[in-house]
Amino acid sequence: MQTIQSDSYPIFFENSIQELVNFVERGNYSRLFILTDENTGEFCLPAIQTALAHLDKTDIIEVNAGEESKNLDFCMGIWKMLIDFGADRKALMINVGGGVITDMGGFVASTYKRGIDFVQVPTTLLAQVDASVGGKTGVDLDGVKNIIGTFTQPKAVFMDVEFLKTLPPRQILSGLAEMLKHGLIVDRAYWDDLKNSDLSLPSVELVHRSVEIKNEVVIEDPHEKGIRKALNLGHTIGHAIETYSLLNDDNPLTHGEAIAAGMVCEAYLSAQKIGLPNEELREISSVFDKLYPRYTLNEAMFPALLEIMQNDKKNENGNINCTLLTRIGQYSIDNVCTPDEICDSLRYYAA
Ligand code: NAD
Ligand code: ZN
Repeated sequence: MQTIQSDSYPIFFENSIQELVNFVERGNYSRLFILTDENTGEFCLPAIQTALAHLDKTDIIEVNAGEESKNLDFCMGIWKMLIDFGADRKALMINVGGGVITDMGGFVASTYKRGIDFVQVPTTLLAQVDASVGGKTGVDLDGVKNIIGTFTQPKAVFMDVEFLKTLPPRQILSGLAEMLKHGLIVDRAYWDDLKNSDLSLPSVELVHRSVEIKNEVVIEDPHEKGIRKALNLGHTIGHAIETYSLLNDDNPLTHGEAIAAGMVCEAYLSAQKIGLPNEELREISSVFDKLYPRYTLNEAMFPALLEIMQNDKKNENGNINCTLLTRIGQYSIDNVCTPDEICDSLRYYAA
């Protein structure tokens, strides 16, 4: 499995823990700080800690699991621990976890002493195929996601699909939605591969291709001026559904479950507005239907959903901007959708 070269850093897929050890040994770092959460501390840290033990210069910083930890209070705690441990500018942060840990760890490292080196060891499928590639770091503030952050590239990313074996099935499905998205926007053959595979534990080949697609898109558009918007497929409506669910449900949708629903709605808009063939709309709907439970939507929820979309930074003048598909494997950015069109797509999904 080939190493993927991002603009300034390698993404390893094979012997990743050994590659991490090699990287650290070459790097001449003063100390190593591993950031984990409770779960990755239990399931993923032991192998890494053992592999680095001979260097005798590792400290562990563990935070609570979950999005609730992704904020400035936790950053403050981590910065203070770095100071207490005497971390200097030659220290390395090793972020071992899902997107919460890779986003927050990247942010803490990119600001501590004006920036120390960090590497990512993504341990959820979502973090592997999405969060750990592209250089976005950050935390939430006052309920606004990722509002504080930087664009800073890691020095390397170490992927190991073995870590996914302890991941709950809902977390696999969450990352899978981004993989399906990667196929839908640029690679029909990859979408077909995904459709025909056992997706309960995606293979390293499937993860590799997904990372390759995300990497190609972000390399071309590192600061989100154009083609990177292709990655927004499913996210305009999906993000609204995710936010709504977070505010109203006891057991809210995961990010991937919400954007899966968003992709079905946006495929409908694609068929209505820019000529996605109807048989491809049916194909997309049926793939998502088989994999994801259907979220219950009713008309009474539409105004709240529209309001969330209209407040989204991607949109202007009450109209709503979507990335759509002309075919499976061909995206189209900046399609303006009216509130009525959006409601029709929600009705299609709910039917
Ligand atoms: P997460 O980090 O909260 O991980 C999900 C859960 O899985 C957590 O409870 C975690 O402890 C647990 N976990 C992690 N690895 C495990 C393992 N190997 N075995 C068992 N349990 C494990 O969430 P996530 O879904 O990985 O990521 C979501 C975050 O990623 C969000 O904050 C989102 O904003 C961010 N994100 C960032 C980007 C980006 O470009 N930077 C892109 C997408 C998402
Ligand atoms: Zn996403």
